Amino acid sequence: MWRSFRARFLPQAVAHVRAGGHAVVVDPTGLAEALLPVDGQGMVTDLGLWALLAIGQQHWERVTAGEAEGLARAVIEESNVSSVLDWCERDGVHEGATRKLQLNCTACAACCHDGDVVLTERDLARFREAGRPDLAGRGFVRRSREGKRTLRMAPGGRCKLLAEDRLCTVYKLRPDNCRAFLMGSEACLAAREETLGLRDGAPLG
Ligand code: SF4
Ligand code: SF4
Repeated sequence: MWRSFRARFLPQAVAHVRAGGHAVVVDPTGLAEALLPVDGQGMVTDLGLWALLAIGQQHWERVTAGEAEGLARAVIEESNVSSVLDWCERDGVHEGATRKLQLNCTACAACCHDGDVVLTERDLARFREAGRPDLAGRGFVRRSREGKRTLRMAPGGRCKLLAEDRLCTVYKLRPDNCRAFLMGSEACLAAREETLGLRDGAPLG
């Protein structure tokens, strides 16, 4: 869970992150930095990485000295500080550093709407090898001027491969992007809020 701390409360921020939480530390000039936990290989955890992706931040580094040594840190651009503080406000109603979310993808499919599902050569090859060359054709693939290929969404923003029962009709063949999407990530929570109106991992009614 996200918590915000003023710089003078760095020890509390570090304790929160060492317990598995995510922290934003704001210095007196308003500069904000994310402090994130790392896994056994010293890499930012998947949830941390997805949070950074959500604010367009791809760079992070390990803290090499001081109280936060060993943790990961990343600069939060000024334009993204309000988004991260919004996550802190959202999580502020929950106690502790982490919590379990009860999410059910098969009843949700929020992330199968309004997506920018990038298609790789490997995805297209998988479609063809499975006897579905149509999935690699113009009916399902949109190509930008720069050559980027993405899944074509239906009018209204729903993925054309999503069935009425909210299940993926090509689940075994689904693109790598869909496979990588992390349940419980900020992108997941944002999709649920935007598509289903469910904030903070709230269950479906
Ligand atoms: S938005 Fe999250 S919970 Fe819903 S289907 Fe996607 S990953 Fe699963
Ligand atoms: S291909 Fe399947 S998993 Fe991927 S966005 Fe479409 S319906 Fe969802």
